[in-house]
Amino acid sequence: MTDKDCYAVFGYPIKHSKSPQIHRLFAEQTQQLLEYTAQEVLAERFKDSVNVFFSQGGKGLNCTLPLKELAWAFADRRTERAELSKAVNTLALQGDGSLLGDNTDGCGLIADLTGNHGISLEGARILILGAGGASRGIIAPILGHSPNHLTIVNRTPEKAIALATEFSILGDVEGCSFADIQGQQPFDLIINATSASLTDEMPPLADDLLAAEGVCYDLAYGNKPTSFVRWGAAHNARKSLDGLGMLVEQAAEAFFLWRSIRPQTKPVIAVLNAERGFS
Ligand code: NAP
Repeated sequence: MTDKDCYAVFGYPIKHSKSPQIHRLFAEQTQQLLEYTAQEVLAERFKDSVNVFFSQGGKGLNCTLPLKELAWAFADRRTERAELSKAVNTLALQGDGSLLGDNTDGCGLIADLTGNHGISLEGARILILGAGGASRGIIAPILGHSPNHLTIVNRTPEKAIALATEFSILGDVEGCSFADIQGQQPFDLIINATSASLTDEMPPLADDLLAAEGVCYDLAYGNKPTSFVRWGAAHNARKSLDGLGMLVEQAAEAFFLWRSIRPQTKPVIAVLNAERGFS
């Protein structure tokens, strides 16, 4: 370890992670002396790797696939939003030596949608595709913005129904299958929280489910528009966005947790977009 404060992202695969670049840009911008690396860590090596990292002076960790649930279990204490999402993407060493677990994914999505893109969730009909870890992390923050209605649809419908039941105390939310949403009233915002875009696939979505002036948002991102972003554009979405902004916003929230200073995200998003040729 160096004399700088050390942070890292653990995951597998991790080679193409943009997190080291994002945190380096945040550190330069806020004049924080820190080092942030990406480390390939398999699930079976997670506990040992975390113990080694913090015993060598590490201050904070991000955890990504497939480690978020393990990080949740490993944390000594958890924030309320981490508790609700049952996943931790940020571990922060506390003054007493304990580890606080947080989940910044949901607020990262909300910050990108509302702050960067001016999309209001209040009173909106919202559809989430997918009922995996990412979906679980965004449901409570979305319901916290008082949508008119939230539907979760999943290839394995039982998972969507179970999630909706679990979160129904927080708002009007239902879970169903792709067959069940055929013919429903169109949605103002459709969020793709499936991993289908990673293999350039598109969930089986009917053509008439996006409202006029509706917005599409894919949590996945890449160097080209994802299959879902292309679907949104082809269905005349007012905006059809990918999750790069969410990635930067969730990183900013982790940075704030660790350093008590909030970096500006827009310049960092602009750098990453320029690098991938997006305007
Ligand atoms: P996960 O827990 O593995 O869940 C995957 C979900 O996708 C499940 O609901 C699965 O349905 C569904 N699915 C997979 N392939 C599908 C297909 N071809 N058609 C329809 N549904 C399909 O994954 P996750 O952690 O939730 O991640 C989901 C996505 O969010 C990934 O693309 C990830 O990169 C992205 N993400 C982005 C950010 C960001 O900062 N931008 C943060 C977190 C996650 P079944 O249940 O039926 O298998």
